[in-house]
Amino acid sequence: MGQDQTKQQIEKGLKLYQSNDTEKALYVWMKVLRKTSDPGGKFRVLGCLITAHSEMGKYKEMLQYSLAQINTAREMEDPDYLTEGYLNLARSNEKLCEFQKTVSYCETCLNMQGTTVSLQLNGQVCLSMGNAYLGLSVFQKALVSYEKALRYAHNNDDKMLECRVCCSLGNFYIQLKDYEKALFFPCKAAELVNDYGKGWSLKYRAMSQYHMSVAYKKLMRLADAMECCEVQTSNYDTTLLCSPRLHLFDKFFVCSPSIQKAFPRYESSMCIISEIGNRLGQASIYVGVGKCWILQKEYDKALDSLQRAHDLAEAIGNKLCILKVHSLCEGIYRCKEQQDELREQVVKFLQCVEELELYCGMCGESIGERNQQLQALPCSHIFHLKCLQTNGTKGCPKCHRSSVKLGFV
Ligand SMILES: [Zn+2]
Ligand SMILES: [Zn+2]
Repeated sequence: MGQDQTKQQIEKGLKLYQSNDTEKALYVWMKVLRKTSDPGGKFRVLGCLITAHSEMGKYKEMLQYSLAQINTAREMEDPDYLTEGYLNLARSNEKLCEFQKTVSYCETCLNMQGTTVSLQLNGQVCLSMGNAYLGLSVFQKALVSYEKALRYAHNNDDKMLECRVCCSLGNFYIQLKDYEKALFFPCKAAELVNDYGKGWSLKYRAMSQYHMSVAYKKLMRLADAMECCEVQTSNYDTTLLCSPRLHLFDKFFVCSPSIQKAFPRYESSMCIISEIGNRLGQASIYVGVGKCWILQKEYDKALDSLQRAHDLAEAIGNKLCILKVHSLCEGIYRCKEQQDELREQVVKFLQCVEELELYCGMCGESIGERNQQLQALPCSHIFHLKCLQTNGTKGCPKCHRSSVKLGFV
């Protein structure tokens, strides 16, 4: 298959894909992949397969195609292809919770010299890097990356990228428990979808609704949360639906008297989430299950589930999940009056707090323990909003960089 025919067949696949005939599109593209003799065409068709598998939630396959793509780019020795290839490798690793690898592939992308695509791709690279840092609970670096990504989005007038960054910022503030901001950013994303998203993939609407529903749930606005979920249900891939649904079930079943009903939900969510390779999702399910056992005073079962969460979180490098586990274990050992174990958990918990710098540089009190409004300075250090307001414009107490205005995220 030569260059022209390759191009034609890729286009044919794209048309099928856009009209939601995914299976036929994949069939066409796979055939191109086997038969084409054109390296550029091979690279592009691998790109199509990567996007499609990403949208289907088939991240292990996505990674396989990304590896094939980077090999093709290496053979061609073209910096543009290499940059794009490394970005796809970074994104595949991000989806599979390989956050360290994601960061290093992103750095490779940003260091590529002499590329013409970097202006368009750097924003996406920064977004992926931010997500990876968030996965590692390195909050300040995550925020720095998101701000850079937003700047690229604004400069290139790239609304799709802006929409994705807003969703990630929603997730960021959920983790730090500033639920006002956690709702604000996905609402902004939803606005972008409404204003510009006619020709966009449906996943953008679903993504913004999902992040809104998580924030509504945290704010205990359950009716609003359900409404967002319904919007998603009508137009989103079932595999990806699982995790949003899970969050809601979590809340509803813990609130209702029949906690037992939560377990089968967790179990079926666990199946899907394990299959797509989302170990961070698995860890948070184990934490949820642990909380249910605690409510039922089944402490040994709770400890067992929390241990699993701990092991997964440690393998991924997600320190925030480890911190949560220690805090829950602390409560359990207090109830069981096991003083030695209790002390051990307290020490580990405090170590995590220290490592994560989860305290406000002004009042010294914790950040992310309960719902509080936060604000970042341009240096991306994060404080309580009320502390910054009383401090005025004296600059950042953490890094001593002077700051005139507040950062915009
Ligand atoms: Zn403070
Ligand atoms: Zn600072």
